[in-house]
Amino acid sequence: MTAPDAAPQAARPVLPVRPELAGEVPYGAPQLDVPVLLNVNENPYPPSAQVVADIAAAVAEAAHGLNRYPDREFLGLRADLAEYLAVESGVRVAPEQVWAANGSNEVMLHLLQAFGGPGRTALSFAPTYSMYPEYARDTHTRWVAGRRTEQFDVDPAEARALIARETPSVVLLTSPNNPTGTALELDTVRAVLAAAAEVPGGCVVVVDEAYGEFRREGVESALTLLAEHPHLAVSRTMSKAFGLAGARVGYLAASRELVDALRVVRLPYHLSAVTQATARAALRHAPELMAQVGSLRAERDQLVLDLRDRGLRVAESDANFVLFQVGQDRHAVWQGLLDRGVLIREVGPEGWLRVSVGTPEETAAFTAALWEVLGI
Ligand SMILES: *Cc1c(COP(=O)(O)O)cnc(C)c1O
Repeated sequence: MTAPDAAPQAARPVLPVRPELAGEVPYGAPQLDVPVLLNVNENPYPPSAQVVADIAAAVAEAAHGLNRYPDREFLGLRADLAEYLAVESGVRVAPEQVWAANGSNEVMLHLLQAFGGPGRTALSFAPTYSMYPEYARDTHTRWVAGRRTEQFDVDPAEARALIARETPSVVLLTSPNNPTGTALELDTVRAVLAAAAEVPGGCVVVVDEAYGEFRREGVESALTLLAEHPHLAVSRTMSKAFGLAGARVGYLAASRELVDALRVVRLPYHLSAVTQATARAALRHAPELMAQVGSLRAERDQLVLDLRDRGLRVAESDANFVLFQVGQDRHAVWQGLLDRGVLIREVGPEGWLRVSVGTPEETAAFTAALWEVLGI
């Protein structure tokens, strides 16, 4: 019985939430305020005073024109990105072959909006980036996850068979992969491209190289395959190597035809004048930022050795993070590190944890805490 003075209960609104979204929660790693943040693969070095000054000046300049909508085609930024890719990988593409958006997450959404959709399938190989199934869900695209091998590699023969069976319109290959760090052999990418070319109605292969700049000596970028494969897209981001996660700029390189399909689905003026100015100013400092990548790679290699020295199993890494095995109760290890002021990521196969490469001081704080927690 309700007490006579009880406040009337507000009626629960009836909202027509799509059934596949019912009970879902927004994606995101915990954002906790602790001294050592090694959980989301950020670059630990903030932009230098010079980079900050140049970005600020470029944004001030752009601010004078903020009464107008920004350049919808942003060919200036696309040309700068093409130039950067030519220097970084030796592969030259035209500005019209580059596409950009608010993070490579949005680039990926554009890809699925253009090439996925109801009645279509997107396929990848797990364990991999946990956002992909969400893009598929949001674009009504069926999701199929093949398996990676014990070494977190993709088996070319298995991949070919899976593609022939599932006839996807989009295949996502992540290389270096997140959360494992593993880069794919280009022969594997070639096998996937060949299988995709045989899918009736066509199939786009996306190689997500968000961590491409961290690849080890001798590991090739899929950019080198672009010229012969009009159904290939290679995506990159300014969030990781460039240390510009807060600016939200991701991009891809592909054939003009593929890029033109993305231009159809993007929202008008999706890339703000402020974002374009920020990215172009940062790109002018690419050589300085790339020097930093070299030291992060060296530190990554050393971290892998240190973990192995203590008897831990560690996945090969071509990224700015390392996946290592701690056994069954990984949550207790994660919590033990957090109690010592170090936040890493509880992600990937059961029993494994992922740590981003930080500054030498941060990495030292992480290893000291880990030896203590594991008693090794
Ligand atoms: C971090 C990451 C991205 C980059 O996302 P942004 O939206 O560009 O910040 C893309 N793909 C993978 C696999 C990643 O780990």
